[in-house]
Amino acid sequence: MRKIVIAGNWKMYKTNSEALQLANQIKINTTAIKKAGIIICPPFTALATVNEVIKDSPIGLGAQDVYWEKEGAFTSCISPGMVRSTGATYVIIGHSERRQYFGETDETVNKKVNAALDNGLKPIVCVGETLDQREENITDKVVTKQIKGGLAGLTEEQMKSVIIAYEPVWAIGTGKTATPDQAQDVHAMIRQLLAELFGNLTAENTVIQYGGSVKPDNANDLLSQKDIDGALVGGACLKVDSFSDIIHTAEKLL
Ligand code: PEP
Repeated sequence: MRKIVIAGNWKMYKTNSEALQLANQIKINTTAIKKAGIIICPPFTALATVNEVIKDSPIGLGAQDVYWEKEGAFTSCISPGMVRSTGATYVIIGHSERRQYFGETDETVNKKVNAALDNGLKPIVCVGETLDQREENITDKVVTKQIKGGLAGLTEEQMKSVIIAYEPVWAIGTGKTATPDQAQDVHAMIRQLLAELFGNLTAENTVIQYGGSVKPDNANDLLSQKDIDGALVGGACLKVDSFSDIIHTAEKLL
């Protein structure tokens, strides 16, 4: 059975001292969690600080992006090795905000995914359609292209370390959530695509998270869907109560 994994994307929020406080609270509020996976993804600046708090707990630590080069004259970029050196073992790649504001493409996502895997980081690869694309009825086509491009050339072995996050762009930070049925349809399509690309075992074992205004009051319905194996949470992960509520909901479903 696949695990349910709840990841929190802190985006550009939390100074070091705020991050320290939130990580501490999350750790305390999730001591009873035995089955659900938990990952927190603070900004780069707080990774090492947060690692000090959670390193002896089951909470995983992730970055929100990574560059593919090992080192060099790439002002502002952070390499996979640098991320690893903070204690982080996960990295979000291809978030729609990176695609929308910073020119991320399926090709750059693929380079980052490869670089992450080569350096022992587990990528959380984000895909999802815009509102226009959903209204044009091309959601499956868009998501298929993102998955084929982003995961191009990966082996079944490498896929064991990959998490996919389906995040309809129109649901991110808007308060609009895909209905459980809408989300389940796309998740099932993604799993079928993974079977075609990497075989049935990979498809069965890959964690596919849903992201887009997940909150304590909709988490149960979303996470109960057959092909939804967790959530990538933005807004609701910045407050300990809402984030731990979602985690406790996941735990009850396992
Ligand atoms: C996200 O940032 O990945 C996200 C899903 O944000 P929110 O939960 O705020 O929609």
